[in-house]
Amino acid sequence: MSSIIVPIGYSGSSCGYCGGDGQRSEKEENYSYGFWAVQMACEDYRQLIDSGWRRSGGYIYNPDRSRTCCPQYTIKLDAAAFKPQRSLRQELHRFNRWIRFGGDLQGGDTAAATTTPTAAPKDKHKGKNKTFDLLECVKESQHDNHANHNLEVSLERAGYTDEKFELFKAYQVSIHHETISEQRKDSFKRFLVDGPLKYSPITYKHGRPVSMPSHYGQYHHVYRVDGKLIAMGVLDILPECVSSVYLMYHPGYQSLNLGKISALFEVALALEMRNAGAGAVDLYMGYYIHDCVKMKYKATYQPSYLLDAESNTFYPFTQAAAILDKHKNASFERGVSIKVDGGSTPGETHSVTDSDDGSYSEDDDNLPSPPPAGFLNPRALPKQLLNQIKILDNRSMRLLTYFTLPHSYRSQVDDLVAALGDKSPNFVILIT
Ligand SMILES: [Zn+2]
Repeated sequence: MSSIIVPIGYSGSSCGYCGGDGQRSEKEENYSYGFWAVQMACEDYRQLIDSGWRRSGGYIYNPDRSRTCCPQYTIKLDAAAFKPQRSLRQELHRFNRWIRFGGDLQGGDTAAATTTPTAAPKDKHKGKNKTFDLLECVKESQHDNHANHNLEVSLERAGYTDEKFELFKAYQVSIHHETISEQRKDSFKRFLVDGPLKYSPITYKHGRPVSMPSHYGQYHHVYRVDGKLIAMGVLDILPECVSSVYLMYHPGYQSLNLGKISALFEVALALEMRNAGAGAVDLYMGYYIHDCVKMKYKATYQPSYLLDAESNTFYPFTQAAAILDKHKNASFERGVSIKVDGGSTPGETHSVTDSDDGSYSEDDDNLPSPPPAGFLNPRALPKQLLNQIKILDNRSMRLLTYFTLPHSYRSQVDDLVAALGDKSPNFVILIT
């Protein structure tokens, strides 16, 4: 199965991270390059994730970390070495106590998370010599017939239901302060249900546990309490990687801190896959922005690693964070800022030259100069790389090479190849 992609281009948008509480910044300061995936092999997407890419539905993008006001770095948690700190362990015990013994869910924004279990007996993990076992603790309150609430956490292939859309609407309106009229079924489906990943079988060396996925692909991790859907994580399960895409939860359960709890369930999923012989599965927690308060919680899951924008190498979190304290847009490898001030803005990049057929197009979505950190220079692509590029003309359904490509398509294909670098030959580039 070939991965088929369509070039989109470089674009800027307002930033949702530094514009103040619930506001977007007014300037377009969040830049990224993106393409559309018609279909994507899980192995190919996994390699893209390890080069800083990420998907939103079928749109796959890579932020320009040398220009963006709030640079986003891929964060990977070493699931096998994960030692949850005390506050996370307490959070999970508190969640389990609520499942087992019930109690009021005191909401409100402060969510001091003061569930008050009615006559809660002592936490059974408080024995002095008891070491914390995440898998055991995560399973503790599921399928317990004597519990006050019935918790079921399961993994299912991503698919639409009205119940999921209702949960999404409630979450966006209450937690993200959006209006109800902004919530559209088609955009929910496009970004959180439909996806380009093609399901492919997972090999478990020690046999597949029934609760583990049989295939790589896009999933919904659904949390039900007494039959009611209270939370849903959107996950990509890829070779040696569980990647968190999105989480939504019912606002009535906010005090349970389901963001933190679901991350623990996701680590447990990665661990169980590891234990069953599916390889060294780690948890990818999306992007990390050093200055963003909303992302600070990701730093509490350790040991983790941040991906260097230039070399696509993972650096230990503490080492990378020390550099980010000094330089917002940083090379972890060189310990310096990679911030580009000035340079061209999108659209000014390429000088318009008359080409053979006079049709060289110049769009305002071309890569800026110098290109984003980690990208090749689209004006100096290695010939041996271009020799391996596969292009499909959607109109004639003819396969083209880079050198038989009509000139009018050159600049968009150059930019795509510059962005994908040595991974470009993995893909069939569809031009329309
Ligand atoms: Zn910003």
